[in-house]
Amino acid sequence: MSPARLSVLLFLVPALLSAQMAPPIRGFSPVAAAAQAQLEGKMAGLLSRDSTGAWFKEFTRLPHPAASERNRQLAELIAAAWKRYGLEDVRLRRYDVLMPWPEQVGVTMTAPRTHRATLTEDCFPEDREACVGPELTYLGMSGSGDVTGELVYANSGNPADYDWLEAQGVDLQGKIAIVRYSNPYSYRGFKALTAEQRGLRAMLIYSDPQEDGYRKGLTFPNGPWGPESHIQRGAISYDFIVPGDPLTPGWASVEGARRIPEAEARSIPKIIAVPLSARDAEPMLRALAGPVAPSTWQGALPFTYRVGPGATVRVTVKMDGRVRPIWVTEGRIRGSETPDQMVVLGNHRDAWVYGAVDPSSGSATQMELARALGRLAQDGQRPKRTIVFTSWDAEEWHLTGSTEWGEEFAKELQAGAVAYLNVDGSTSGAEFKASAVATLNRLVQEVARDVADPATGKSLLEVTAARVGADGVVDNKLGSGSDYTVFLNYLGIPVVDLSFNGPYGVYHSQYDNHTWMSRFGDPGFRYMTTMAEVWGRMALRLANAAVLPYDATAIAWRLGQFVDELAAVPGVKERLDLADVTAAQRAMHEAAEGLEAALKRGVASPRAVNAAMQRLEQQWLLVDGIPGRPWFRHALYAPKYTYAALELPGIREAVDAGDWGAAQREAARLAERIRVMTAALAALR
Ligand SMILES: [Zn+2]
Repeated sequence: MSPARLSVLLFLVPALLSAQMAPPIRGFSPVAAAAQAQLEGKMAGLLSRDSTGAWFKEFTRLPHPAASERNRQLAELIAAAWKRYGLEDVRLRRYDVLMPWPEQVGVTMTAPRTHRATLTEDCFPEDREACVGPELTYLGMSGSGDVTGELVYANSGNPADYDWLEAQGVDLQGKIAIVRYSNPYSYRGFKALTAEQRGLRAMLIYSDPQEDGYRKGLTFPNGPWGPESHIQRGAISYDFIVPGDPLTPGWASVEGARRIPEAEARSIPKIIAVPLSARDAEPMLRALAGPVAPSTWQGALPFTYRVGPGATVRVTVKMDGRVRPIWVTEGRIRGSETPDQMVVLGNHRDAWVYGAVDPSSGSATQMELARALGRLAQDGQRPKRTIVFTSWDAEEWHLTGSTEWGEEFAKELQAGAVAYLNVDGSTSGAEFKASAVATLNRLVQEVARDVADPATGKSLLEVTAARVGADGVVDNKLGSGSDYTVFLNYLGIPVVDLSFNGPYGVYHSQYDNHTWMSRFGDPGFRYMTTMAEVWGRMALRLANAAVLPYDATAIAWRLGQFVDELAAVPGVKERLDLADVTAAQRAMHEAAEGLEAALKRGVASPRAVNAAMQRLEQQWLLVDGIPGRPWFRHALYAPKYTYAALELPGIREAVDAGDWGAAQREAARLAERIRVMTAALAALR
């Protein structure tokens, strides 16, 4: 043996040894997996709770709502740090979007006695730093007006609630509804649309202590639940119809962009709506007479809830109607081999107030990960594909920044993005939650297998499977409510959404702040930092894998489940012919297994497989989208109007409307997409 060959062998021995010990990583040969594990270990070693905590402190120091001066400062602060960390092409992108701010908000009960809602949150001596003082609490995209009317209690403000009221003979026309946030949960924009459709003139949404207050446990500052004065702000945009700037639906609001008149915008509510604390709602609810509300509508306030009449309320909202600039920060670590292929990592930066959980925990996580990956690149350990970091703005309004950016760079993203990994709030507790398209199930599971839960030292996979079952570790039912929407539903790019969750009753209130996080959510920033490891390993695997770590058998299998669930909907068996869809799904499953076998034999060329696989998920996109919502193009997923997940949306909405002809047409469109997918998979074997 020549000395050269001997030294090669000696060089290989450690890698081969650790290759035998290391668990397999999808998309990597055993030797490459060992090197990858080493790289990821180095990345994890660079992560520090102290620097994560320092960023968290900076993000939560001041309120930073979308379009505020502070939020723009933060965009620049992030850009400067990313440059320091060694990221490339760091820049701010500006979009001008409709984002009216309030000039006046008032809610007053005028009968049976006068009571003016404070619309403010208490300050606690333990938490004096985080006291915003008098500011207007409001719901983004509320209509403007001054209306006085009879108050009616409508539970959660969902259609079934109004159906019940109407069945009791309660007239809703011209009245003002008072509704709860979550009984059951529905997105506040859906409540607004429902109230508008039922003829109400205004809507008050309040936080009942049963859902996030004292009925749950100790309240802030003694516990994680909401105190009586906490107010859940939020937007009521109809972004389940079309997200992003309402005046540029389907194209980016860059300089010079065409804008449609407000009257034509489908995502702008007309109804006037205001958020209330339990404390402000109590006197109004207490004043209601009339029929006793059903037992499931009773809340935690100390009296019997009635639906009305008995109280008259005046609601005044004046919004300024303005278009405002928002700022997306963008930076990248250029890939060493295929820089046009990208893994995109996004988090929104804007908060309703201090936004400790939502989103600053995720923002701090993202900064820490950018620092670690930047360091690796500076040390010469550059990813093969490009890793793009994005800090979105105005997510809280209509998923605005991410949608505009996705629309602006649609071509580049569809040509090169291999996945979008979203982290909104990274941490409100210790329970790991991952949602993803099934194509990425294996990737998510393997990453969870390789990251330790900081509390128990066991793997996140083990801890999570023990809690929700092995099948539930990755949730494949994707709704909306965060920035992955444009990537999944509009661009057809595989997405993952990650968080750690726990008891959290201060969402979108001023109490979602540094004190809350350091006392309850994540003392010591352990989970915030662990999320950087999860996110980083996932990004590095997608960036470095020889064969993209997608799993088409998983999506074919999950599709089969979605079809079974559809078939179980009453009436479907008798009235809808799903034979074509089922046959197509079986063929797709076979083609996916064929590809899997070919990959195992190593017969498929990685370059050809990657080029085709990168576009695979885009085969789900329907020309003209789902009926009535052309922006939402994915055949398997769309959000319900409540933001909940809706599978096979085109068929499902037609079935729910009882339109069997339309359902059959949508089934044919789905079968066609499955066949295109099958052909693409078969071509790769
Ligand atoms: Zn958020």
